[in-house]
Amino acid sequence: MTDLTLVERMPRAELERLQVARLRRQVARAAERVPLYHERLRGAGVTAGDIQSLGDLRHLPFTVKSDFRDTYPFGLLAVPMEEIVRIHASSGTTGKPTVVAYTRGDMDTWSEVMARTLMLGGVGRSDVLHNAYGYGLFTGGLGFHDGGERVGAAVIPISGGFTDRQLMALRDFGSTVLCCTPSYGLYLAEALEEAGIAPKDLRLRVGFFGAEPWTEGMRDALEARLNIVALNIYGLSEIIGPGVSCECPEKQGMHVAEDHFLPEVLDPQTFEPVPPGVTGELVFTTLTKEAMPLLRYRTRDLTTLVTEPCRCGRTLTRIGRITGRTDDMLIVRGVNVYPSQIEHALLQVPDLEPHYLLVLTRETALDTLEVRVEARSSVAEAGKEALAALGAVAKRKIYEVVGVTVEVTVVPPRSIERSVGKAQRVLDLRK
Ligand code: AMP
Ligand code: ZN
Repeated sequence: MTDLTLVERMPRAELERLQVARLRRQVARAAERVPLYHERLRGAGVTAGDIQSLGDLRHLPFTVKSDFRDTYPFGLLAVPMEEIVRIHASSGTTGKPTVVAYTRGDMDTWSEVMARTLMLGGVGRSDVLHNAYGYGLFTGGLGFHDGGERVGAAVIPISGGFTDRQLMALRDFGSTVLCCTPSYGLYLAEALEEAGIAPKDLRLRVGFFGAEPWTEGMRDALEARLNIVALNIYGLSEIIGPGVSCECPEKQGMHVAEDHFLPEVLDPQTFEPVPPGVTGELVFTTLTKEAMPLLRYRTRDLTTLVTEPCRCGRTLTRIGRITGRTDDMLIVRGVNVYPSQIEHALLQVPDLEPHYLLVLTRETALDTLEVRVEARSSVAEAGKEALAALGAVAKRKIYEVVGVTVEVTVVPPRSIERSVGKAQRVLDLRK
């Protein structure tokens, strides 16, 4: 096997030459094969031939989340369906999910960047990888799975849920690597403590935590309670899924797999690049994607670029922790939730009024989302049981549309405070 990680230590000038050549090819491919890019590049007056350096990136048009919705489901594909071997999806801003697709070549890229990610934590053939990311349309589960197999680890495709089974696998199968969201990691740590299983009874040594925002405080808790090194991993379905970036053991920012995904951090108002260390919106251009090349995709995630050399010797640039978003997306138990999606679901339930408030709390390790929504007066007059029954209907509908379990409290009309001006729809009480 060739050394997948050689590229991670390339001199910057050499890496940039590779990036420019790939960018030129990617732009040509997008212009030729994707009508949206054909139009947009023509509008911007740019052709692949104009790309001479990374500085020319700024002339390329942006791509945004709503482009997925407007071309739903497969309008951004650059290949015929015969070449697609995998389809995933994540939440969109309304009922329609963001659909992404992969060719065989894309699957190879994905498993390569995920293998490289796992190697950042020294994962290899002698490891047992407990993969508690969700399997399914979400990219987390299968992304880690393929990377784990590629490095030769023994992958346990346990997915999320069924706590007793999680504890059994962690202990009895001798798991050395834990992969899950940070909140689920803390939840598992608590469950282990409750079951009287100490970290020394386990063989865990490293964990890869991502898919939702978390803090240094949570890292300290995960490392202490599980006796592991906890690494931050960031990715998004649109770009490939997990594998876009991950920390090395220096834990000073996440190295970006820049040979495949070109990052920019831009001022969200002016769209000009911000200097290293200054917070801006993270934007990615794919360099090698076959099925769905994306030019300057605005992630809406806020972070910084870290450009100084890393002590680990990798030359790949780094991004800091994700500190927020430029839109209203919430992440609840690893699932992306837009308030507009909840509204979309609520509007499909007769007898509800479109007045609602989303209340987020974190009692133990896991988030709870409570939806408070008003009923029509006829239901309120029918009494408490009628309200509760309506709540159950709304809960099912939200699960169907958004894929997340919430608590629904149906309240009488006019009991949710009206705001003057922009409606206050979210009350985030998580610490
Ligand atoms: P998805 O496409 O469903 O995997 O969701 C991707 C989104 O999850 C990103 O745009 C981020 O908002 C969030 N996300 C993923 N990894 C992290 C992380 N390590 N820290 C903070 N947010 C993350
Ligand atoms: Zn490093």
